[in-house]
Amino acid sequence: MLFDTHVHLNDEQFNEDLQEVIERAKEAGVSHMVVVGFNRPTIERAIDLVEEYDFLYASIGWHPVDAIDMTDEDLAWIEEMAAHPKVVALGEMGLDYHWDKSPHDVQKEVFRRQIGLAKKLKLPIIIHNRDATEDVVQILREENAEEVGGIMHCFSGSAETAKECVEMNFHISLGGPVTFKNAKKPKKVAMEVPLDRLLIETDCPYLAPHPFRGKRNEPAYVKLVAEQIAELKDISFEEVAKVTTENAKKLFGIR
Ligand SMILES: [Zn+2]
Ligand SMILES: [Zn+2]
Repeated sequence: MLFDTHVHLNDEQFNEDLQEVIERAKEAGVSHMVVVGFNRPTIERAIDLVEEYDFLYASIGWHPVDAIDMTDEDLAWIEEMAAHPKVVALGEMGLDYHWDKSPHDVQKEVFRRQIGLAKKLKLPIIIHNRDATEDVVQILREENAEEVGGIMHCFSGSAETAKECVEMNFHISLGGPVTFKNAKKPKKVAMEVPLDRLLIETDCPYLAPHPFRGKRNEPAYVKLVAEQIAELKDISFEEVAKVTTENAKKLFGIR
């Protein structure tokens, strides 16, 4: 059993063949997935999907790239949607300094407001971070995000930063990049973070693992991430699958 903690099956790239993608995931042993919505259309689609498939759950939030577009009404709407029984987390939220659509101060404000909402609703948070590690960690600390904890999704930082996040009640989720030959940092993180704080994900359709790098990613490939972690930690694939699934179920409150 594998738990893919971050999928975008709500992306239009899956419109044509969603049923086949889901069947391949099942064949690969994927038992649970969290569909992440990050704006109005993707949240609506995520909710439709979790109502259709019992093994899908949703996380909803506002992406930092689009922070500039988030209104008070949007945040109130996210709060309303979060009452859905299959919404298990808030996010993805965070900071993304790679794209310059939303100014940093706007991103920070939208991030802080969503952490506040998560604390109010007592839901864990899924963090997106690109080129902004220092500010992300600082905001998590200042907003006392430790209270709800959550996931550093597709973590690309150092083992030292991973340790800091684990101390703040966060799990480290590894995706396709851990399988890339030149990915020294994610490999070191996989080796050093204890298995009971690790999660696996695809972030599909993005970031496909080796040997599918550059192609459309899909949940079945999360198996390759688990295999890579097993190899790096020198433990069995079954152990990685079992413990990361238990970690995710516990974090999301899934029985
Ligand atoms: Zn992300
Ligand atoms: Zn994502």
